[in-house]
Amino acid sequence: MIYQRCGRSGILLPRISLGLWQNFGDEAPQDTARDICLRAFDLGITHFDLANNYGPPPGSAETNFGRILKRDLLAHRDELIISTKAGYNMWEGPYGEWGSRKYLLASLDQSLKRLGLDYVDIFYSHRPDPETPLEETMGALDQAVRSGRALYAGISNYRPKETRRATGILRKLGTPCLIHQPRYNMFDRWIEDGLTTVLEKEGIGCIVFSPLAQGLLTDRYLKEIPPGSRAAREQFLKTEMVQKNLPAIRALHAIAKRRGQPLAEMALAWVLRLPVVTSALIGASSVAQLESNVKTLTNLDFSRDELAEIREILRSHQAFVKLPQRKADPARKPKPEPVPVEKGRRALHVPR
Ligand code: NDP
Repeated sequence: MIYQRCGRSGILLPRISLGLWQNFGDEAPQDTARDICLRAFDLGITHFDLANNYGPPPGSAETNFGRILKRDLLAHRDELIISTKAGYNMWEGPYGEWGSRKYLLASLDQSLKRLGLDYVDIFYSHRPDPETPLEETMGALDQAVRSGRALYAGISNYRPKETRRATGILRKLGTPCLIHQPRYNMFDRWIEDGLTTVLEKEGIGCIVFSPLAQGLLTDRYLKEIPPGSRAAREQFLKTEMVQKNLPAIRALHAIAKRRGQPLAEMALAWVLRLPVVTSALIGASSVAQLESNVKTLTNLDFSRDELAEIREILRSHQAFVKLPQRKADPARKPKPEPVPVEKGRRALHVPR
């Protein structure tokens, strides 16, 4: 394994980390899930990434990973960086998602219980909340760290401007932002449009999720959509996406073949080419996939011609995809309160 410093912090992260979003919930074969985690650790993957809602059902990836920890890995707790997040829908009512202090801290307590841990290494705000003051969300991350429930704070899916503001608030509170977790892969290059510059300037690490575009940037779909694959489940990866991207996938596959590595390895090497990218956060449904992906680290270099060829394929097949703007949800807007008025005059409703 190769380890890289996370921004300007004291933490080194493996260049390949393992995420438990899919393949570790209750519907996944538990023996395989355990084998993947243990093989990852043996290969030097010290970082395991979770979130409150990973499963399905939500929460089950944390519970199952907690079981693996207890059975096999707790003796190695100090060799591990375990992260979790809160931001997406987790429980009923107004306190079960987004970015309030109430939700974040309650969710972290629930995550710790499921994981069977006293603390996680990194606690993330999983997504920005357009309707909660950023000071409140960042204050909750600071509180999570100060209370000992997390060692470091992170943010995920924040755009450049929000990132600058969030990191400024955290710095003032005395809990610097360790890391940002954005999506980044050959088919989604939005971070190159401002975020990487902010992260470099602020000295924040960057761990990129879905570096294989959920499996599109592998050999998995070259011939067919195999049963049991993520695209076959049609939930987060649609067969339509496979069809749409197949010409680009085939063209990229040809370059990878010339380089003497599978497409998945080339796609991982490609995200790791940016110095700001600390780690590529992969998913895997088998030990073989994991082992192949770690082999990436034996061939990380690209020639100028290869990079130009890749750029040309991406330019002609796919426009840069930006993170969709999250609009404020009108259903969550509080009703305007009547403004107190002098006796005898009509109350005015002032929009907030
Ligand atoms: P990837 O892009 O790495 O996709 C993983 C999938 O690709 C696997 O499940 C497998 O699909 C396929 N695959 C992996 N390696 C190979 C290989 N060598 N050959 C063929 N197919 C392969 O990442 P994910 O989308 O899974 O995301 C990774 C992690 O990022 C998550 O677990 C989570 O921790 C994090 N994440 C964070 C988000 C956020 O908002 N912060 C959002 C999404 C993810 P198959 O299952 O079909 O075999």
